[in-house]
Amino acid sequence: MLGATGSIGQSTLDIVARHPDQYRLYALTANSNHRKMVQLCRQFEPRFAVMSDPDSARLLGESIADLATEILSGEGALAEVAAADEVDVVVAAIVGAVGLMPTLSAVRAGKRVLLANKEALVMAGGLFMDEVQRYGAELLPVDSEHNAIFQCLPPGSIGKGVAGEGVRKIILTGSGGPFRDIDVELLEDVTPQQACDHPNWDMGPKISVDSATMMNKGLELIEACWMFAIDHSDVEILLHRQSIVHSMVAYNDGSVIAQMGNPDMRTPIANALAWPERIESGVEPLNLLQVSHLDFTQADEGRYPCLALAREAWQQGGTSTTVLNAANEIAVEYFLNRQIKFTDIPRLITRVMEQATSAPANDLDAILEADSNARESARRLI
Ligand code: NAD
Ligand code: MG
Repeated sequence: MLGATGSIGQSTLDIVARHPDQYRLYALTANSNHRKMVQLCRQFEPRFAVMSDPDSARLLGESIADLATEILSGEGALAEVAAADEVDVVVAAIVGAVGLMPTLSAVRAGKRVLLANKEALVMAGGLFMDEVQRYGAELLPVDSEHNAIFQCLPPGSIGKGVAGEGVRKIILTGSGGPFRDIDVELLEDVTPQQACDHPNWDMGPKISVDSATMMNKGLELIEACWMFAIDHSDVEILLHRQSIVHSMVAYNDGSVIAQMGNPDMRTPIANALAWPERIESGVEPLNLLQVSHLDFTQADEGRYPCLALAREAWQQGGTSTTVLNAANEIAVEYFLNRQIKFTDIPRLITRVMEQATSAPANDLDAILEADSNARESARRLI
C-alpha cells in the first residue's frame, strides 16, 4: 500500500480490514505522518513500514519497537517493497510525481497495479503504458471515472485501445468542485480551506484543489487517453453535480453505458482489488429515489481555464504533459501555503508551458529533466 496514510490509503485499508481472509498487508508506506502509521502498523502488522522521511522513520521505530514490523526509509525502499516477490497487488496512492518511480517499480515486477496516482500517467504515460505491456503488469484504474469507464468497456480494454469495439466516445463526468456556482470574479479571493471543501468527495488537499480548478478533470482526460489508448477528441467532459454517474461509454448503436454509485472511493478500489470478482466494500447502497435528479451540463472553460491547458498539453504531446503536471504541482503547493492566489494557478501553468520546449518523452531521463526544469521555472516565476 503506497500512500497508506492518505485518503485513498484509508479507504483501501478499510476494505482490507473487511476481508482479513483474502488480503494481507506486506508493506505500508507514507511520507512523514508517523502517528498515523503507528496506528496502522498496530492494526495491520505489516511485514514492512516505509517512511520516506528519515526522522519520521526513527520516530515510528521508537513507537512500535514491540512489533515484528521492519521499518525502512527512503525512495529506494519504496521501489523495493513495491517489487518484492511476496507481493501480488500494489496500490499506488502516493500523491504527485514522487509516486512515479515506486509505481514503475511495481510495473516492472509485473504486479497487479491499482493506480490512483494519476500524476504518474500524466507525467510519463507513454513510457508507463509501454512498460505495463513489456513486463506483463496488470493495470487497473482506481480513479473513479476510469474505473467506471473500465467497467463500461469490454474486458481487455486497458492499453489496447477501443478501436473495433464499436465505441463512439467516452464521457468523463466531473462535479465542478466547490466553486461551480460562485461568480467567476470572486475566484480571485477564495482560500485554500474553501478550495478543499468539496461538495461530494472527501479527498487529500492536492486533488481537492485540482477539483476546484478542474485541473483534476484535465489530468483525468490525459489519464484516460493513455489508459484506454484513445484521442482527446473522443472524450467529452460533462459537469454532473450529483457525482452519481462516475463516467460513461457511448457506443455506435446508440447505447450509452454508465457506472453509477454513491461518491465513495471504496467502490472503485474494491472493484479493482477483487476484479473480476465483486466484494463487499462498506459503501452505502445507492438510493435512486433519494438522488431523484441526475443533471448534466457543459463545463465552461472560462470558469475552468485548466481544462483547456490540459487539452493543449495533450495535443502538444511529448513532455508537455510532464510540464503541465509539474507546474500544477508547484502552483497548488504555493496556493495551499497561501503564497499565490487561486487564479494564479492557471496563469502560472500557462507561463511555464510557454517557456518550456516540448521534447519527445520516450525515455525516463527526458521526462525527469522536463519535470525538474518545469518546477524550477514555476518557482522562479512565482
Ligand atoms: P493524500 O494527500 O490524502 O495522501 C497522499 C499519500 O502520499 C500519503 O500517504 C502521503 O504520506 C504519501 N506521500 C506524499 N508525499 C510523499 C513522498 N514524498 N514520499 C512518499 N510518500 C508520500 O492524497 P489522496 O487524496 O489519497 O490522493 C492520492 C492519489 O490518488 C493522488 O494521486 C490523487 O490524485 C489520487 N486520487 C485520489 C482520490 C481521492 O478520493 N482521494 C480519487 C482519485 C484519485
Ligand atoms: Mg477522479
